[in-house]
Amino acid sequence: MVTHWINGKPWDGEAVRQGDIFNPASGEVVDLVDFATARDVDAAVSAAREAFLTWSQTSLTRRVNILFGFRELLRERADEIVGTISREHGKVIADARGEFDRGIEVVEFACGIPHLLKGEFSENVASSVDTYSVRQPLGVVAGITPFNFPAMVPLWMFPIALACGNTFVLKPSEKDPSASLLLASLLSEAGLPDGVFNVVHGDKEAVDAILEHPDIAAVSFVGSTPIARYVYENATRTGKRVQALGGAKNHMVVMPDADLDTAADAAVSAGYGSAGERCMAISAVVAVDPIGDELVARIKQRAAQVVVGPGTGQNSEMGPLVTSAHRDKVASYLEPAATGSATVVLDGRGRTVAGYDAGVWLGPSLVDHVQPGTPVYDDEVFGPVLSVVGVGSYDEAIRLINADPRGNGAAIFTNDASYVRRFRTEVSAGMVGVNVPIPVPMSFYSFGGWKDSLFGDLHIYGPDGVRFYTRQKVVVSRYRSGGAGVNLVFPTND
Ligand code: NAD
Repeated sequence: MVTHWINGKPWDGEAVRQGDIFNPASGEVVDLVDFATARDVDAAVSAAREAFLTWSQTSLTRRVNILFGFRELLRERADEIVGTISREHGKVIADARGEFDRGIEVVEFACGIPHLLKGEFSENVASSVDTYSVRQPLGVVAGITPFNFPAMVPLWMFPIALACGNTFVLKPSEKDPSASLLLASLLSEAGLPDGVFNVVHGDKEAVDAILEHPDIAAVSFVGSTPIARYVYENATRTGKRVQALGGAKNHMVVMPDADLDTAADAAVSAGYGSAGERCMAISAVVAVDPIGDELVARIKQRAAQVVVGPGTGQNSEMGPLVTSAHRDKVASYLEPAATGSATVVLDGRGRTVAGYDAGVWLGPSLVDHVQPGTPVYDDEVFGPVLSVVGVGSYDEAIRLINADPRGNGAAIFTNDASYVRRFRTEVSAGMVGVNVPIPVPMSFYSFGGWKDSLFGDLHIYGPDGVRFYTRQKVVVSRYRSGGAGVNLVFPTND
């Protein structure tokens, strides 16, 4: 049984509702997860509110020591956490380890918080007047996270929030909730006081309770665009600071001068890694004339060889999809109603894996001559279905990308510096790759898309994470002997 983590321990109440947790490789229900009601969310927020009183006053060195300890425990217990991710999500072990390592990077960044929280000081801005700025925590902050990175995305949020002195309530995806509890127990083991980090599980009911709760000061959300918009609109309505990261449709332009083997390798890795269930997955390859047919042939040859199997399989390169409902939806994008006049070059439907008959499989699929206006192009898809769109020129490619309502990542493959320069300047996307298909910034930069891929003003983790989880205060101080006398004039700086 997977339950909430409130005030430093597993919740001991009785859940009104529960959900199934599947192992997508075996197709079996492996556990149940409690779903929180508004009352349960309130219990977590109360614990966090109480803990904030002392945590926000705890010294920076003490906070950092706990984070250093947490980082060591994450390394020691990596196998357990990575195995849990793979079992509930389905991704292969090496890929789960990749997400985990990228999450640990954020803990390492947060260990530098004494430097990151330094304010500014100006001496003698007016006679005997000094001015300085400090950044202070917000209070209780919440994170709502998606199924596709059950460890990394929570780790994008709470290490920085906690380092800044906030307390945290996490609502992870109900599809793969167990990794978050391992993180919670390791934080406790590292010495984090009770109530500073809490986890509530559940679905819309728990999310709505977070959005409405008057004692939550800020919400970080990562998930699909419609829910990101919903979270942004409702949490800002109740006065919260919000960053809500949404879905994506990431394009990869391949210019005629590009090395086609390199481009094909990248398209296959970024299109089918994690079964295409990544917000930074390449979903549409844009082939600039005349290389389209040759590129498609090379992608097809590689995609057909991807080894599909359980996440724990020694040779598996791509695991199952997260649920059968999601697999069926992704597979429907290979139907004529979704592809229009495009050609399905590689069809992953009907893929089976020996010994895993009930697994949620869909093999790598490739669709050529895709046109905007068809569902396989317009929708996010979020599965191992890669589209190829042919265009006549770089200008046509950039018009196509910039017309898309989402703008998470975009990549160009070329060695022509003039196109690289134009692309990074002209493309409407928050993260740009040059001969790199998945340009996820390291933890000392920030991550975020444009347009419908992010609602709010600040990107997540990195320096923007520190800005998001703190508010600024400016102090103007004067010490001098003798009174200046009454003066009703607006203060000037002489
Ligand atoms: P999702 O939007 O279905 O769920 C995300 C969170 O919202 C979960 O915690 C879920 O319980 C909750 N939720 C779901 N339906 C809700 C509703 N009706 N009301 C309130 N809350 C609700 O997303 P998902 O399927 O878990 O994850 C995949 C999506 O997340 C993809 O669209 C992907 O692109 C996106 N994503 C984006 C980023 C990014 O950084 N931009 C990163 C990872 C995933």
